[in-house]
Amino acid sequence: MSSVSEYFSGLFGGIKSLLTGMGVTWKELWSKKVTQQYPENRDTLVISDRFRGELTMPHDNNNEHACTACGICQINCPNGTITVVSKMMETDEGKKKKILDEYFYDLGMCTFCNLCVISCPSDAIKFDNTFENAVFTRSTLKQRLNNEGSKLREKKREPKPVAAPVATEAKPKPAAPAEAKAPATASEDSAVKEDIKENKE
Ligand code: SF4
Ligand code: SF4
Repeated sequence: MSSVSEYFSGLFGGIKSLLTGMGVTWKELWSKKVTQQYPENRDTLVISDRFRGELTMPHDNNNEHACTACGICQINCPNGTITVVSKMMETDEGKKKKILDEYFYDLGMCTFCNLCVISCPSDAIKFDNTFENAVFTRSTLKQRLNNEGSKLREKKREPKPVAAPVATEAKPKPAAPAEAKAPATASEDSAVKEDIKENKE
């Protein structure tokens, strides 16, 4: 008897489970689709601005960048993805100055940790959200980020604001300390001694 009831309870349990699964399938069949049909939707594809695709060094219209060749990004990169090559030049004032010669970045080595961007004191590098970087030869992933003939952008120094004079109240002068009594002279001493002598007599 118990085996018959177990049979029917198992049967109805299976039917209930099947209907629950069919209900989910039916619901999803009519809900809005979120799957991206890439690459068919390449023209309309939206990539988040914060997506780290590849490292770049922005240049302005004058082919100038902000990299001072300090090498901090290279030191902070955990796997040797960046190579900063610097050279010395002479300024108009005759001083020696280190400038960037070549900046190499190996996309095939990069883990996209962003440490280089965070540690750069000049905001000279940033990540682009491009992502179609598939190539047939791994060596082509090694890129030079500074343009040919580019140079360091001179920083425009803002004139320092002149501080307004601070009005100070005239402080009352502290009272002069009482004058120290001058030591008695030898003649004064002898006069005092004579007075004492006379009083005794
Ligand atoms: S993102 Fe990380 S791994 Fe890639 S270059 Fe920068 S520091 Fe190196
Ligand atoms: S990118 Fe930034 S941290 Fe790296 S060498 Fe240039 S200025 Fe220094």
